[in-house]
Amino acid sequence: MRPQEIIATKRDGKALSDFEIAAFIDGVCDGSWADYQITALIMAIFIRGLNRREQYSITSAMLHSGTVMDFSDIDAPKGDKHSTGGVGDKTSLIVAPLAAACGVAVPMISGRGLGHTGGTLDKLESIPGFDVNLSFSNFKKVLKKCGLALAGQTKQIAPADKKMYALRDATATVPYIPLIVASIMSKKLAEGLDVLVLDVKTGSGAFIPKYAESLKLAKALCETGKSFSVNTQALITDMSQPLGKYVGNALEVYECLKILRNDGDDLMKPTLELSVELTATMLLQCKIAGSMENARSRVQKVLNSGEALERFRQNIELQSGDPKICDKPEMMLTKGLTEVSVTSDMGGFVAEIDTLIVGNAICDLGGGRIKVEDSVDHAVGYACTKKIGDRVQKGDELGIAYCRHKNHADAISEKLRSAYKISKEISRTTKLIRATV
Ligand code: URA
Repeated sequence: MRPQEIIATKRDGKALSDFEIAAFIDGVCDGSWADYQITALIMAIFIRGLNRREQYSITSAMLHSGTVMDFSDIDAPKGDKHSTGGVGDKTSLIVAPLAAACGVAVPMISGRGLGHTGGTLDKLESIPGFDVNLSFSNFKKVLKKCGLALAGQTKQIAPADKKMYALRDATATVPYIPLIVASIMSKKLAEGLDVLVLDVKTGSGAFIPKYAESLKLAKALCETGKSFSVNTQALITDMSQPLGKYVGNALEVYECLKILRNDGDDLMKPTLELSVELTATMLLQCKIAGSMENARSRVQKVLNSGEALERFRQNIELQSGDPKICDKPEMMLTKGLTEVSVTSDMGGFVAEIDTLIVGNAICDLGGGRIKVEDSVDHAVGYACTKKIGDRVQKGDELGIAYCRHKNHADAISEKLRSAYKISKEISRTTKLIRATV
């Protein structure tokens, strides 16, 4: 079938057959469709929509454009967690070892940060020596030995998505839920999972900020996961302020290590709470626990005993990183950075934090990337020391920015201050876990 016939079908608002969708995805992968034809169809889909059958069909075709991993010889339930992305969103590095210590095999394929949201791969690469580029056989070896493997997407995983995502990014067609679902799920389903827990963010720092849209996305992701026989559940969680204390790659690893060592401070508690909930949800899905209460207590046990930290240490060692960071998390803190105190210019209560501004400020410091090919400075970041609902006096510190260059200080301090709305009235605090889908 010629591309223009398939494009015309969708242009005219008709549903595409499975055969037409398969021909499109084949054309994306074998180069027989030109970029302008791919983007024409994507734009037609964006405007005309996809029905449920088409949603399943495009996800399936994108998934099978590459390899689906097979871990059936590992005698443990296979589970993973995926987040739609946020600021200070670091729970993967805690959830994976917690779940592994509770008996789940976690084959976690992650992405890099783009724009204001961070990515697990960048955080991992801030660990001295850590190798995220594992071949499939190495990935499997690591998974068998310590229960978790943490790596980047290879060329073999959902190659159709790689091409399509880059074109969507350049043609303003990213924010359409069925295409987002196909993109995320084609990569996650390639991990050969039994269960998947999704952390769908909502609020100013989320990729989709509006709650109603986050809910729609969560429902669509879960429905698609289940249609591929993967037990999929989602938590909709708050991203109206950075999660926990730190934003910035190495600083976030530091926070995770402090938590895994049972040595986190009060500002790190939301990171711990969310990590426990996500892991407990996974244990329930895997039937390792019979109730959320039982699941939470199992998670707490492996945290308190240090078993989860041990799993992370083994994983770091197996992936060529320096395991000493598990004993000395301070190794993740870079010396010689300029510390800039961001202060409140009025007294009152922190009412809002524009988390998109915070994420963009980290990008300005070099801690995130604007374009896929940009490199990142792992050391820089921000400690968010006042959160929504906190009382402040004029001149009080709202947070501390860690800059590589002294001449960034004034602009960054101004930008970060502008993210805060201080009100005279006591402000309502936000709920961390808004819903379970
Ligand atoms: N993340 C993805 O992987 N794909 C999308 O389409 C959007 C966010």
